[in-house]
Amino acid sequence: MDFDLSPEEEAFRDEVRAFNAEHLPSIEERRKLGPAFFPTWWEKIREKRWVGFNWPKECGGGGGTIMEQYILKQEMLLAEAPALGRDYTGLGWVGPAIIQFGNDEQKARYLPDILDSKSAWCTGYSEPDIGSDLAALQCRAERDGDEYVVNGQKIWISLAHVGTGIYTMVRTDPDVPKHDGISCLLIDLKSPGIEVRPIESFAGDHFAHLYNEVFFNDVRVPVANRVGAEGQGWEIICSALQNERSGIAEVNRHHKALERLIKLAGESKIAGRPALENGNLRRKLAAFDARIEAARLNGLRNLTEQVKGTDNASHSSLNKLHNCNLLVAMSETGMELLGGASPYIGETEASLYRGKWQIGALGWPTTVIGGGTPNIQKNIIAERMLGLPKD
Ligand SMILES: Cc1cc2nc3c(=O)[nH]c(=O)nc-3n(C[C@H](O)[C@H](O)[C@H](O)COP(=O)(O)OP(=O)(O)OC[C@H]3O[C@@H](n4cnc5c(N)ncnc54)[C@H](O)[C@@H]3O)c2cc1C
Repeated sequence: MDFDLSPEEEAFRDEVRAFNAEHLPSIEERRKLGPAFFPTWWEKIREKRWVGFNWPKECGGGGGTIMEQYILKQEMLLAEAPALGRDYTGLGWVGPAIIQFGNDEQKARYLPDILDSKSAWCTGYSEPDIGSDLAALQCRAERDGDEYVVNGQKIWISLAHVGTGIYTMVRTDPDVPKHDGISCLLIDLKSPGIEVRPIESFAGDHFAHLYNEVFFNDVRVPVANRVGAEGQGWEIICSALQNERSGIAEVNRHHKALERLIKLAGESKIAGRPALENGNLRRKLAAFDARIEAARLNGLRNLTEQVKGTDNASHSSLNKLHNCNLLVAMSETGMELLGGASPYIGETEASLYRGKWQIGALGWPTTVIGGGTPNIQKNIIAERMLGLPKD
């Protein structure tokens, strides 16, 4: 495929650059503004219809072409802009599931809040002992007139303590093969009978409280909150997980991280000598560069297939596996270079970078396990891309 931009695409790229030059303060200024910056940013990008840019226009999105989405994402990452909207989960997979499987009433009820950064959805898939084998989930929803009565437990639910709703997979029929008895419910987290209990992480500080257990005790959920047909949950999960895993076309972020890592190496010492004189470190940095290039080429291959309409859903597993491994490896190298330096004290690179190396290295479960473990991604790649036998 020819990756030169058409005149229209170049004009769009220039529009994004001009917008960022006008409306996106520098990182230092944003830090001074703190959380107050975000609502203004979300409002401005919403006016441009860049929140939900990949959603159809009739659903309130931007209707951007695949190339325009790529350009917008690339420019925003290059500018180190914050996320394009507050409701990451809503924009990433809850909204798309409603668009694909929901009815008009659900579209009118939920999509505007996602786009206006008023909702904060979380994802209720995993249960104690049920993560990778998701189809075995047990959380039960029994029909009672116009309502379901939900009982059971979910675990590892990111940000449920600050969420507005939980996109929940429940078992509506225990008597059919496991994949066929699952349904998808949109549940208000304020519903009576829901209890959210924090799980504290070993990483401390930034990750101290990210995940939660969520308990459902006779929670009554209107049947009108079911997305898709009863028993269609597995199809919805597969589509949503693909969205979750494919949102990681992060090559520009990796480039920035490597630039910072090289800068940090240039300012660091190993055993009293300049770190960059160390052959092992130099080889490591060169290998990161090669891995980023591999990610870029793989991303371009996916983009080509998407534009041609021949994309293979399993590519999102390849992206997730490669990008997560890279991010963690670079973060660990950053942390090794920092040695005993405190991330929060003094005018060091560590403090300027706000402990991001430490967060990247210690927070690996978030990027690596969340959305499916590496083994599961490898199974998908082996079976669906390489055509290897199942066992
Ligand atoms: C930071 C973070 C955030 C998360 N957020 C959410 C969330 O918001 N909502 C949600 O529902 N869940 C969430 N999860 C849960 C996550 O999806 C599960 O932890 C994950 O799917 C793994 O499931 P498990 O923990 O039960 O591990 P298990 O499935 O028990 O896996 C244990 C080990 O066995 C391996 N394994 C399992 N099956 C196979 C197989 N068939 N072949 C080869 N190896 C296998 C796994 O790779 C892993 O190494 C989150 C997890 C983390 C760490």
